Amino acid sequence: KNLKKYFVASKSILKSKRTYVSAVNGVSLQIKKGETLGLVGESGCGKSTLGRTILRLTPSTSGEIYFDGQDINKLSNEQMRLMRQKMQMIFQDPYSCLNPRMNILELVRAPLDVFQVGTPAERLDKVKEMLEIVGMGEQHMMRYPHEFSGGQRQRVGIARALISNPEFVVCDEPVSALDVSVRASVLNLMNQLQERFGLTYLFISHDLSVVKHISDRVAVMYLGGIVEITSKDELYKNPLHPYTKALLSAIPLPDPEKKAAPKILEGDLPSPYNPPAGCRFHTRCEHCTARCKEEAPVLKDMGGGHQVACHLYD
Ligand code: SF4
Ligand code: MG
Repeated sequence: KNLKKYFVASKSILKSKRTYVSAVNGVSLQIKKGETLGLVGESGCGKSTLGRTILRLTPSTSGEIYFDGQDINKLSNEQMRLMRQKMQMIFQDPYSCLNPRMNILELVRAPLDVFQVGTPAERLDKVKEMLEIVGMGEQHMMRYPHEFSGGQRQRVGIARALISNPEFVVCDEPVSALDVSVRASVLNLMNQLQERFGLTYLFISHDLSVVKHISDRVAVMYLGGIVEITSKDELYKNPLHPYTKALLSAIPLPDPEKKAAPKILEGDLPSPYNPPAGCRFHTRCEHCTARCKEEAPVLKDMGGGHQVACHLYD
């Protein structure tokens, strides 16, 4: 609810003058139990920061984060430590988050050690079971991350994230670093695991075609704010926000005969250090009016849970 995350970007010599970057600029959204909410946007729009802030891996500047009705910003460190078991993260580059000096057994078992779950023998059994489930097999347990391919390392990353039986998992670009040939198998695995364990995913990606494959609903993010959110089918059939339309037009169509007029996004993503006033998309929007430069649009429900933040729909 109205989540904000500002970073201090620089302190000038005059101590009074600080520059803030609003990486997350007042985001309100709901993630429903058992669903996959896709979160898309260009790199630098604040998707990863939003994901980390929701998990309290990064403290939020203001706003509320409810998990099962509890505002987790109000939990003590000890309460939060217990809550962590229920909320996990899968990272983009499994290599950079897996300690190269730990073998697969130690890496996957680590969350159980941290949360002191079960006896050592039970933990070992659990690791074997989890590796089997992600398609790795226990014969690999004594090997090290560098001995595996990117796809296998991501399977280890997934086993590690799921071994503490989480309910909610933030997946930050989990297949973006992988070869296109192994992406589908990792996405399928994530789908199967969701069914099997009743998981809820926030699935972050800059790639609308990946999000389409896995999401139930999709939220589109631009410069720290959500500009559109709706069901996957509705978003791809009936996008409303000019930014969403531009993003979708950049996906190559399967049928080259049915060529839609490409809506090329003009210019770069503006700097979050100095975001445009009014609608943050106005510098790149072909429908921009005087009002857009002054007044920031808020998310409005267009019916059936399709929400959009754009003055065109007033
Ligand atoms: Fe474009 Fe205005 Fe809508 Fe922003 S509010 S997306 S500038 S039409
Ligand atoms: Mg990111």
